[in-house]
Amino acid sequence: MPSADAVSDDSRTHIIIVGAGIVGVCTAYYLTRHPSFSPTTHRISIIESTRPASGASGKAGGLLALWAFPSQLVPLSFQLHEELADTYNGAEEWSYRRLQTVSLEGNLSRSSRVSKRAPVDLGLPDDLDWVRSDVLESWSSLSGKDSTAQVHPYKFTMFMLRRAQECGAVSLIMGKVLSINYSKSNTAESVIYQPLGQQDSSSSSGPASTSTSTASPSSSENSTPKVLKGDKIVITVGPWTSRLLPTCPVSGLRAHSITITPSRPVSAYALFTELKLAKGKYISPEIYARKDEVYICGEGDNYVEVPETTDDVEVLKERCEELVKYAGVISKELQGGRITRRQACYLPVVDVPSTSGPLIGPTNTQNLFVASGHSCWGINNAPGTGKVMAEILLDGEATSADISSLDPRRYFVSGPLPGE
Ligand SMILES: Cc1cc2nc3c(=O)[nH]c(=O)nc-3n(C[C@H](O)[C@H](O)[C@H](O)COP(=O)(O)OP(=O)(O)OC[C@H]3O[C@@H](n4cnc5c(N)ncnc54)[C@H](O)[C@@H]3O)c2cc1C
Repeated sequence: MPSADAVSDDSRTHIIIVGAGIVGVCTAYYLTRHPSFSPTTHRISIIESTRPASGASGKAGGLLALWAFPSQLVPLSFQLHEELADTYNGAEEWSYRRLQTVSLEGNLSRSSRVSKRAPVDLGLPDDLDWVRSDVLESWSSLSGKDSTAQVHPYKFTMFMLRRAQECGAVSLIMGKVLSINYSKSNTAESVIYQPLGQQDSSSSSGPASTSTSTASPSSSENSTPKVLKGDKIVITVGPWTSRLLPTCPVSGLRAHSITITPSRPVSAYALFTELKLAKGKYISPEIYARKDEVYICGEGDNYVEVPETTDDVEVLKERCEELVKYAGVISKELQGGRITRRQACYLPVVDVPSTSGPLIGPTNTQNLFVASGHSCWGINNAPGTGKVMAEILLDGEATSADISSLDPRRYFVSGPLPGE
């Protein structure tokens, strides 16, 4: 039998957030900044099964764009990213900056000939001098600094978590939520979670390192699942959503990425490439120059189902080596650089033809909320999601953006499954 957490001596409204990715963390942050929130009347528990930002939120590219989707949320979120960067010196803390985006088309099917070709003047921007013009056939500008920016997603998420915790009413519990308890009247009352051993997030230095718990159970309690009662429960577990809400149409799509320290500093560009390898065969790595490294990601695959935890994500060496190889073909600075990460993670995707997601707001179950399915724009849209979730949780409705078309109740019916 799971043991119950002692909460009876605490009459504060208890909001449980399951999942410490960027969406869960931004929800906690904006709750603590909401005018109706007070540490004397509210408390928040974030429960995380491995480490904060150990999934896509720590391994994404971090591109922000006004032309991202969905249009209901993007302008708000892009603006909030800028405000956060201004408030907390995001340029230093999480490498926030504006940048330009271009698309590059190349033909590598004749690369042996191409490499002997004299550089062709395609009129590339002068400062895009780290791209080999001799492998390119054409390019175009996608957007300028007015509508594109970037963050380092891991640094951003961890920074926002610390800021959320500084009010003293936000606990990070290390444990894996196993299920949600419902009353007979379809109200979510508590979660059952498997605690992890005691860890220390203050020593966390990167997406793969161990992190913490301020309210972490001791390792002796590891084997006993615990019950945590909450007044409101918010599911922000991205690709793992249907493990807790089996009818919710959110699944995962794996994508590989690498980071390279280039042989010399390179200018601030995001490159969307399309490289022809052979007749009808293309590869489209996305290459984002960061302040001190270059991030390169490939396309998604669904060869392997979403595993149990972020620690179990299988990284295919050959997919990473492919990225290393084509990065080197595009740029001598990347070819001569040092590879610092080979990794994979899962995008949370909404499997409904009528929407590309995300799903944000209340469910059919009383006191149960979801913010998930952010697809390839979760870094961009997390602050906006956090802001509207805080409004929904504390005011009863979103006022900063009209997100009615993202209402989860349009796309699935929640609650205990028959027989539960
Ligand atoms: C390769 C790649 C590149 C990307 N690039 C960009 C980009 O440039 N710009 C952009 O805007 N977006 C980008 N994205 C998308 C973005 O990363 C995601 O949309 C976003 O990170 C999703 O955040 P999340 O918090 O919903 O989920 P996640 O980051 O997956 O976090 C979910 C958390 O829940 C935890 N969890 C899961 N199950 C449980 C459980 N049962 N109990 C407790 N905790 C649990 C996990 O451990 C995890 O920490 C990219 C994604 C990928 C894969």
